[in-house]
Amino acid sequence: MARKKHPETIAIRTQAERTKFKEHSVPLYLTSSFVFDNAEIMRAMFSDEVEGNIYTRFSNPNISEFTDKICLLEGAESGVAFASGMAAVFATFAALLKTGDHIICCDSVFGSTHTVLEKQLARWGIGHTYVDIQKTNEWERYFHPNTKMIFVETPSNPALDIIDLVWLGKLSKKHKCILVVDNCFATPILQQPIKYGADLVIHSATKYIDGQGRVLGGVTVGRKDLMVDIKAFLRQTGASLSPFNAWVLSKSMETLTLRMEKHSANALKVAQYLEKHKDVESVKYPFLPSHPKYKVAKKQMKLGGGMVSFIIKGGLKRGKKFLDAVEMASLTANLGDTRTIISHPASTTHAKLTEEQRIASGILPGLIRISAGLEHIEDILEDLDQAFRKSK
Ligand SMILES: *Cc1c(COP(=O)(O)O)cnc(C)c1O
Repeated sequence: MARKKHPETIAIRTQAERTKFKEHSVPLYLTSSFVFDNAEIMRAMFSDEVEGNIYTRFSNPNISEFTDKICLLEGAESGVAFASGMAAVFATFAALLKTGDHIICCDSVFGSTHTVLEKQLARWGIGHTYVDIQKTNEWERYFHPNTKMIFVETPSNPALDIIDLVWLGKLSKKHKCILVVDNCFATPILQQPIKYGADLVIHSATKYIDGQGRVLGGVTVGRKDLMVDIKAFLRQTGASLSPFNAWVLSKSMETLTLRMEKHSANALKVAQYLEKHKDVESVKYPFLPSHPKYKVAKKQMKLGGGMVSFIIKGGLKRGKKFLDAVEMASLTANLGDTRTIISHPASTTHAKLTEEQRIASGILPGLIRISAGLEHIEDILEDLDQAFRKSK
């Protein structure tokens, strides 16, 4: 068998079949449906005897190309793309769980995922327990006979917690649970959770995979038997990725490796700068030796990623002043962009949580999250420096 190509190459060279025009770059298939040669082929395709594109809610060459790339990079058997990351998260829950089931979730998790667990799944009698990722010896006690799924983010949004995937993979097998990892912060370039025993991996492609703040998208990849149900759920309920967004995302993937290397290099420098700053209480970055799970991060991630969080001295008031003082970095509800982004989770993405829930998730009032962009590092640091001075 031919040697598996390197991730850089896979992300560039995986592509839909060329048309008769022999285009080099992949064309955009803006079509809602596809034609059949005859009634018999149409029948065979509808009954899944023959594979092929029928209707863009089910599949489309641009969507398949994008999904194939993610599957190859994550080492997944199968996958399906969605209109957004949250559509992927929700479909994964809804397709695999039923009333009475229970989910174990890490306590720092993306704000909307938190809200889906609290407000949506709870209405259908699907329960959950948040567990403290620092106290791994306590996890065993939260498993019940109806616990069907473990859902984690590592690194987590926004606390940048790291969970040992080798340990979690074993724990999940022992309890016969489906292990789902939201791999949004790392991307398949920096971490492949399936290697460690994850059954499914989710991405908000809106973030690093697009990387240029243009389109929304999501994807779930992993075990084929589980993906059959998730695919059916999407086909029936319709949160499909648009071919245009799939085309943008697939193009973006060609530069993902380069971008992740640069995001990680810039973020490490930002983290090192913050660690030395006298107005900073603490800094969290997976590849800083001061991170509580530094060794685990080094073991399971190729680089530290582009996200840094820190707690500014002076709490909420100083935090808001700091955000107002920043000149270049954008105040915007996104991350993983070429442009450096700065945000204040307590008053934005995690505002729907109670103060108590926020503290439990590591979201202190003075927590500031930085998504290090691809600008020159000197310009990024200069902006932060003047903001510290101006916000005194
Ligand atoms: C943004 C994000 C999501 C949701 O993705 P959308 O594309 O915005 O729906 C899910 N998980 C994490 C970790 C995220 O950062």
